[in-house]
Amino acid sequence: MNQVDHAHPPSRIAENKSRELEDIRRLIQACIQCGTCSASCPNQFAMDLTPRRLWRLVLLGQEEEIFSSRTFCLCSACYFCTLRCPRGLQLTEAMYRLKQVAAKRKLKTYKASQAFYGSFLESVRRHGRVREGEFMALYLGAMKNPLLPFRFAPLGLRLLAKGKLDLKPPSKGDMRLAALFDKVALVESEADDRNKP
Ligand code: SF4
Ligand code: SF4
Repeated sequence: MNQVDHAHPPSRIAENKSRELEDIRRLIQACIQCGTCSASCPNQFAMDLTPRRLWRLVLLGQEEEIFSSRTFCLCSACYFCTLRCPRGLQLTEAMYRLKQVAAKRKLKTYKASQAFYGSFLESVRRHGRVREGEFMALYLGAMKNPLLPFRFAPLGLRLLAKGKLDLKPPSKGDMRLAALFDKVALVESEADDRNKP
């Protein structure tokens, strides 16, 4: 039997969820569906929904379709759409907010991207720069998929042949950026607290 969460009753959870999407909807509410963002996006070929369709779904509040899509996960924050949108909308910021919501809700569609970003940043936090070998070891460990290394093997071998891989074993490093990372985490958690209803 499902346990009742008295601290977070269903109505409050639903309210928080729609509030998150409402904040994103406000960013893009002047969208005229011209499609310039889709035509400008270099990653659109790999997306299941074009950016224009994604924004339409956000305007309509279709949470399920939005978060079952991988479109926002594939945004590489190049800012082309933001620069070219005739309404001057903050589209890259809106993509970023969708990623944030997906990360907070621990959605399966965003798991690989979250592990990728997290592993990259952890390596930077430890050494002040990314160590490619360590970064991949952290990522593969976080993904817990024994077949995944085989998918990356050809790319790894090509990079190795060109001397582009730092293969030093993972270590804690000198943590020279740890204080900076901790400060950012603190600022973000204070901002989250302020935005709580
Ligand atoms: S470019 Fe701007 S106005 Fe045009 S569809 Fe995209 S978000 Fe909407
Ligand atoms: S910022 Fe993201 S959505 Fe916009 S054009 Fe670049 S990759 Fe595409």
